[in-house]
Amino acid sequence: MIDVKHLTKTYASTTAVDDLSFRVEPGQVTGFLGPNGAGKSTTMRLILGLATPTSGQALVNGRPYREAPEPMREVGALLDATAVHPGRSAYNHLLALAATHGIGEIRVAEVLAQVGLTPVARKRVGGFSLGMQQRLGIAGALLGDPAVLMFDEPVNGLDPDGVRWIRHLMRGLAAEGRTILLSSHLMSEMALTADHLVIIGRGRLVADTPLSDLTSAY
Ligand code: ADP
Ligand code: ADP
Repeated sequence: MIDVKHLTKTYASTTAVDDLSFRVEPGQVTGFLGPNGAGKSTTMRLILGLATPTSGQALVNGRPYREAPEPMREVGALLDATAVHPGRSAYNHLLALAATHGIGEIRVAEVLAQVGLTPVARKRVGGFSLGMQQRLGIAGALLGDPAVLMFDEPVNGLDPDGVRWIRHLMRGLAAEGRTILLSSHLMSEMALTADHLVIIGRGRLVADTPLSDLTSAY
């Protein structure tokens, strides 16, 4: 579970996140919807402890993520800029990440299979398409078998097959009881993927509602 409480983040001239409160519950996909610049990435970075809040707090399973004893087993995240060595194979990239977090090599093969990259596991990631890079990033997020997952705009730049694949993966992860926060600026995509919507604009909460409340009238 993710619990965001009165979270505010102010940069020199911008309030990126403005007194934002919401919860992300297990067993469903929570779509985090808002236009570009609304504060979605900043909120995710605050939840991961990659930025410090100006005020308020974000708790993951009841405590700040930075205090989690085994962070990668607690939260998996796909953020926009995941650093990879272009010369490394997909397998070795994941193996290095696993080793850093005390995760066994067996998981590397498992997550590669889960994201459909087994056939290219030994290829250099420098030659990967955007869709393959997204899959690799998602494989990294899944390595620790975390109960909580956050994906920042994972369908950006993907072809229709890739978009459908992400949708199917998100539904499957939620069905396993995981807590999923999925950001997007596309209402049309969230209507197909999410169970619950947290909508923000200019860093502020606009709506926090089951998707069914928005669609059942039609
Ligand atoms: P979104 O993910 O919804 O597109 P962001 O969280 O990336 O939105 O950005 C929210 C606002 O905060 C934007 O106005 C952005 O320019 C600003 N912002 C984000 N990160 C920084 C930063 N490190 N320094 C200054 N401003 C930032
Ligand atoms: P540190 O906390 O010392 O920076 P980590 O090994 O925790 O080092 O993180 C290394 C990289 O992995 C960082 O760039 C961070 O953004 C990323 N990272 C940390 N936790 C996760 C996670 N749960 N899922 C995906 N990436 C993560």
